[in-house]
Amino acid sequence: MIPPPPYAPRSESHPHEPLRDPKLPSLEEIETVIASEAERWSSRLREVSIQIHGHPELAYNEVFAHKVLTTFLIKQGFDVTPHYILKTAFKASFTSPTVKSVPPSKDQSWWRKIAGKSKETELGGDKEKLPSVMFQAEYDALPGIGHACGHNLIAVSSLFAILALRHLMIMYKVSSIVPSSATRLIKELDFSSFALLLFQIPGTISVLGTPAEEGGGGKIPLLAAGAYEGVDACLMCHPGPGPSLDEENWGSIRPSLAIQTIHADYVGKAAHAAVAPWEGINALDAAMLAYSNISAFRQQMVPGDRVHGIVVDGGLAPNVIPDHASLKFFIRSPKGSSLSTLRSHIDACFEGAALATSTTLHLTAAPAHLDQRNNSSMSMAYKQIMSDCFKQDIVIVGSSDGGAGGGSFSTDFGNVTYAVPSMGSNYAIPTVAKGGNHTSPFTLAARSEAAHRATVKASVGLAVLGARVLMEKEFRKEVREDFEKGKLT
Ligand SMILES: [Zn+2]
Ligand SMILES: [Zn+2]
Repeated sequence: MIPPPPYAPRSESHPHEPLRDPKLPSLEEIETVIASEAERWSSRLREVSIQIHGHPELAYNEVFAHKVLTTFLIKQGFDVTPHYILKTAFKASFTSPTVKSVPPSKDQSWWRKIAGKSKETELGGDKEKLPSVMFQAEYDALPGIGHACGHNLIAVSSLFAILALRHLMIMYKVSSIVPSSATRLIKELDFSSFALLLFQIPGTISVLGTPAEEGGGGKIPLLAAGAYEGVDACLMCHPGPGPSLDEENWGSIRPSLAIQTIHADYVGKAAHAAVAPWEGINALDAAMLAYSNISAFRQQMVPGDRVHGIVVDGGLAPNVIPDHASLKFFIRSPKGSSLSTLRSHIDACFEGAALATSTTLHLTAAPAHLDQRNNSSMSMAYKQIMSDCFKQDIVIVGSSDGGAGGGSFSTDFGNVTYAVPSMGSNYAIPTVAKGGNHTSPFTLAARSEAAHRATVKASVGLAVLGARVLMEKEFRKEVREDFEKGKLT
């Protein structure tokens, strides 16, 4: 039996809580409903998490995880599109529409009662776009060490959030409106049909299953294909190492570094290295010069920028002048804009080496993963929610802190944060000292019950934040304004 989370309902109302429609639940009620609903799903979602953990799969081959997650979501009545845009991506959604859309056959008296409480007039019928909140699922693993980044936990965090938020949207106050016999009937119905009858909070909520976070950047083609269009808030959480085994109640919201992968291929001309070296053009020399150029440039790099690379191909035999050599580099910078500046310097290092050696250079670069720009309104709101619900202190690290105190990791979620208002939180799971992400001890930690408990808490925070986005027009406006301001920095 898993103990309940240390959920602590607040005794005082939130000092910054905005004025809300009295027909809708208060923030405190939302927190209570969501926390208890998440708890109700805890043991079933622990099974899902353990299943994914036990079958680690690499980028774009997450076939098992895709199956487990989509099967679960279909069974729970969500509108699911497996293989959405990418083979191992998926989308699951739920829309709580206006009462106007209720089929005429569903004219039970208790429905009429609810219909009278419709928000339809305020929403202007179907004309106004329903607010939309999306949660991100990741489920890929790392070569050799399995789920050493805990993406099994991220996968279930999105399920916790969508299930708890759907419950709030549909069932809130149902028991006070409809007779208990009707509530029983509702529970037997398909969720999507009774949602039409009993909505309290209009909106669309979804989970986007995003493959290949560790390598391949699955969110980038999903973005390009329009998977994030119309989303008002995109939310996710990611596990990290706890300060110690006893202090797992910790979280942060921090930026990541923008990153780009660059391949440099030098083509020269082969020749006997002793008999006629002058007939050759040494591609390895070009690669070595490029490496040295970058090493020299590193002294002038601004703090926060990072460049690191390897020789992928350095020739085949010492007695043959190499006609081909290649390098693979990662370049990182605190912002997408500063990454472009860094890129131009690094390109010059590669090009200079080609010029000096008369080799031909072929430069290819993968799409950049931009820095994670966390929406400040949503970050502050999440901090408050986690303090209210779990007495958890969320440390917010601003993007201006950059590489120094800020991000050192990189993620394709950064690109999402440039496209729609987004927030990614980090939370601690207990692991051993020096057993952080991408180590074997973290793989073990990611399947522990304590890690699961920490995930429940983080997910409750995301779902409550999602509820605020759906319910508060003013908050949505603030979030949008912050997002637009962020584009200027
Ligand atoms: Zn990772
Ligand atoms: Zn990760």
